[in-house]
Amino acid sequence: MIRAIIFDLDNTLVDFMRLKYESISAAARGMIDAGLDRDPESIIQGLYDIYDAEGMEYKGVFDSFLNAVEGNIDPRILACGIVEYRRARTANLVLYPHVKHTLMTLIRKGYRLAILTDAPRLKAWIRLANLNLQHYFDPVITHDDTGYHKPHSAPFQRMLQELGLSAEEVMMVGDWPERDIEGARKLGLHTALAAYGSTMDTANHRADHELPDLRSLLEILETLNEGLHPASSAAE
Ligand SMILES: [Mg+2]
Repeated sequence: MIRAIIFDLDNTLVDFMRLKYESISAAARGMIDAGLDRDPESIIQGLYDIYDAEGMEYKGVFDSFLNAVEGNIDPRILACGIVEYRRARTANLVLYPHVKHTLMTLIRKGYRLAILTDAPRLKAWIRLANLNLQHYFDPVITHDDTGYHKPHSAPFQRMLQELGLSAEEVMMVGDWPERDIEGARKLGLHTALAAYGSTMDTANHRADHELPDLRSLLEILETLNEGLHPASSAAE
């Protein structure tokens, strides 16, 4: 009997890649408008190159970029890039199709929902708050809460402990085969790959289920639980 669903956040619930692209495109326009004499495509590529090297949450991306291509940081250009980036980031933070409907349905059916993300704690909570999802998940476990990234077993163990459930009562849903799926498999959780959000090579993923759309999770759970209510006889 599955009683709880753990979701990864970025590229599983939130369309993070689109968010990133729209935000840095806006930043490029902002910097050009402020006087940076470069074409937008080369700026966007330059920013992506820095993210590839430093990680997608790297805060100093605009400083590094300007230093690398201009040899100095013009504060007017830097400020305009940051302002446009932030504006676009809030405007383009969107959920994949059917996410809200699926989450609401799961809650109605009695499932507990949780978030397990490698994002920094405050960034994860700001994304949830922006989407009005701050009350849907308990617990929300971020990288700062254990100091380990998936697929290390520490975050998964912490999650099971906080849920008070055993591995076979929990399903992990995530887009990253090596991190979300393998990490959960090691401890014996059920696994579903968010194929709609994955930017990884998923050809050889070992998830129990593959989701072309998040709502297909509902049918899978219905089958696994054979119509039983997930909140029933929770004491057993
Ligand atoms: Mg992810």
